[in-house]
Amino acid sequence: MPRPRRPRSPFATGWPLFRTRKTTPTGHDSRVQADQQDVSRPRRRPAGGRALYAWFLVLAVCIVTRLLLGRTTESYLVVVAPYMLVSIVVPVLILAGTLRHRPPHRAGWLALAAAQALYAVGDGMTVFDDWLGQFLEPTPADVVYFAYYVFAVTAILTFIRRRTPGWDLPSAVDALILSCSAGLLTWVYLVQPLTSDSELPLAAKLTQSAYPVLDLMLLILAVRLAMGAGTRGPVLHLLLTSLVLMFGADLLYAVLGAVSGEATSAAWLDAVWMASLGALGAAALHPGIRTFDRRTDTAIPDASPGRLVLLAVAVLMAPAVQMIEHLRGTDVSVPLASAACAVMFLLVLARMAGLVSTQRRAAVTDGLTGLYNRRAFEEALAAECRRASRHGYEVGLLIIDVDHFKRVNDTYGHPAGDRMLREVADRLRANARADSVVGRYGGEEFVILTPHAAPATLRDFAERIRTGVAGLPVQADDNVLLGVTVSVGAATGTTPTDLLRVADAALYEAKAAGRNRSVLSTT
Ligand code: GH3
Ligand code: MG
Ligand code: MG
Repeated sequence: MPRPRRPRSPFATGWPLFRTRKTTPTGHDSRVQADQQDVSRPRRRPAGGRALYAWFLVLAVCIVTRLLLGRTTESYLVVVAPYMLVSIVVPVLILAGTLRHRPPHRAGWLALAAAQALYAVGDGMTVFDDWLGQFLEPTPADVVYFAYYVFAVTAILTFIRRRTPGWDLPSAVDALILSCSAGLLTWVYLVQPLTSDSELPLAAKLTQSAYPVLDLMLLILAVRLAMGAGTRGPVLHLLLTSLVLMFGADLLYAVLGAVSGEATSAAWLDAVWMASLGALGAAALHPGIRTFDRRTDTAIPDASPGRLVLLAVAVLMAPAVQMIEHLRGTDVSVPLASAACAVMFLLVLARMAGLVSTQRRAAVTDGLTGLYNRRAFEEALAAECRRASRHGYEVGLLIIDVDHFKRVNDTYGHPAGDRMLREVADRLRANARADSVVGRYGGEEFVILTPHAAPATLRDFAERIRTGVAGLPVQADDNVLLGVTVSVGAATGTTPTDLLRVADAALYEAKAAGRNRSVLSTT
């Protein structure tokens, strides 16, 4: 995902949120904080070449330097140098990784490189502002940071679209639920305190409130990316690591700022931001970017236990915030909390409806071919026969069996056999009538029911089906094209058991007569 970032320059600026008042001309405060122990630097060592390890080394040196400089009274520009170095190098690394590994779709990575370049420019301008001690918001740096968000969002949206088959609505709804909860927290704890600060001019309020909102937008997209389909390798993990570090550092920055009343400049916070940027650069250097946005059909882990816990926490957040604020004697705005709860209830209901409909569909569908399964087909056949008896028409039934299918399995393997079955199913669907019901009866045996079928019509229909399947060879695996034929047994009638029995007998006849033919019997 995404990369995180928000504007904040290394130290003193951190959340634009809290950076207004007193920043000295030299920006950094000289409180020497002894809290630079935990440098969370990217710890994983993904496979992927010397460039990656070299980058981790450079990053580690920069982080350690920043931590050491945090204890000195060097000039502001010296202290900020390691951070700026990382910030500037990251877009270059993303570009280099993209050119080197040549992912099939570069748009997302190029957008990410552009985003990080803007971010670096914004950082540079903020450092300059800090150095001069000028802060009249919105500053030109804010404009650059806002442009950064446009590119960052574009990059993540591009990744999501490429990785996701269809629209993956369940994951989208999950991400919305989490976003709604995160949005409430953001509003209550970050935006509202700002808007109620009467010392700030309106333009500054708007500028500063925009950051948490834009961050939230990135967070939503990041959650969407993490929860959706797609490969799960080191690239995704590095991107998510980058994001988690960035949001974690931002949050700490905001909380520390709120507690102390001024922008914090703890070196370890800078170190975390650097680690976050570093993880982003490492993601782009990793060869996994070649397959990162490849679309997969792997089932998305829907409603897994971890996801349910996450959703439960998100949904319970709204009442929890109300309770906490109530206990603190500062009640949350009732319309706001009610609206958040209502939206989340509706989203949960939408999710439930989606799950029920997915389960219903799964219960009647054959997993391999997507056709009706045997049970659902038999139900449809019984219902059609009842209607036919009532209204006095005949139901036609075809049983279609692939000829010598076992040989395909034996010669080319089960996956090739499966591929052939899927292709046959597609051809049956394509050649069936609009009012037909097509099912997989078992193994390599398919069934089609078609109402209002006089014997002559059904004979033609059976032939159309047979020739429709046999018309083209099937791609059994990447290098093998196989001819395929089917035998078809057809029957007309109004009793399900008779129809099945007679059509099966007709199929047997077709097989006995040499296969690749259709035979019609009548009850
Ligand atoms: P015939 O022309 O007489 O129909 O010969 P056949 O080889 O098609 O018939 P047979 O019934 O002997 O073989 C059917 C084979 O289908 C045996 C079984 O292993 C295979 N089969 C059943 N279900 C599946 C499946 O889901 N996938 C694959 N790949 N094979 C399957
Ligand atoms: Mg067969
Ligand atoms: Mg068979």
